[in-house]
Amino acid sequence: MRSMEISSPGPSERWDAFWLPLTAARRPPTSVQAMKCTACDAEVRKPKRREFPRLKFRYLVCDRCGKGQRLGTVLRTSGRGTRPTEREQLRATLAIAVARVRLKTLVWGPNPNSDDLAAEKRKQIRADILRDEGQKAFFSEDLQLGDMPNNVLEMIQQHIVDLVICVGASWGSAAEFESFGVTLGPKLLAWFPSAARGGFADGGSRRVFHATGGFDETYNPEDLISCVVTLASIDWFAEKKFLQVYVDQVRSALDVVAPAR
Ligand SMILES: [Zn+2]
Repeated sequence: MRSMEISSPGPSERWDAFWLPLTAARRPPTSVQAMKCTACDAEVRKPKRREFPRLKFRYLVCDRCGKGQRLGTVLRTSGRGTRPTEREQLRATLAIAVARVRLKTLVWGPNPNSDDLAAEKRKQIRADILRDEGQKAFFSEDLQLGDMPNNVLEMIQQHIVDLVICVGASWGSAAEFESFGVTLGPKLLAWFPSAARGGFADGGSRRVFHATGGFDETYNPEDLISCVVTLASIDWFAEKKFLQVYVDQVRSALDVVAPAR
């Protein structure tokens, strides 16, 4: 495969242009004091911050309507010595590299037909991933095969997808984490209700899961209402997409230098 322009070493600005478009949620703390709520339009002088320590994502939550949003979405590439046209070319190259990445994600959680708020978030996460052109997202229920036992079916499913997001709320999703958390490792983002803290999974499987490099967070009922669970899931997905861009770039760069192809 021919290497893309962005994989060749160049001025430091080129590398900056590649690395800077991290998701807004990962930006370092800023002096943001006020928030213009995108849900209710209110101007909130001191919004609440919600931080997920393992993911290192943070969000602002409107104290009027209770909805959460990202800190900001401005890419800080201006004023770094790169001419605008060159910068736009680099951004276009980056956009092409990102658009080439196709990931398949499985979203586990409570029965989508139940009135559990976590089930609503599960649907929201799938819909948001599908809105990203070229990406695929499924529920386990979409991928049934005859009367195959659930655990056998899910064991197979986890090998045919790239990522899994588990909104743990029901006994079913806790069992999914117990059965597959360690084998999925860094390909799994697991959400636990804060009420589950100190349980069996907390002192056992979660520790082993962390050792694999897996990501998990706990959520409160208000995190479902504010939608920060959805936002953080989508931002985690975006980070994995950037990782895939990186891996694809490294692969094509290695193709160029390999003596035997
Ligand atoms: Zn609001």
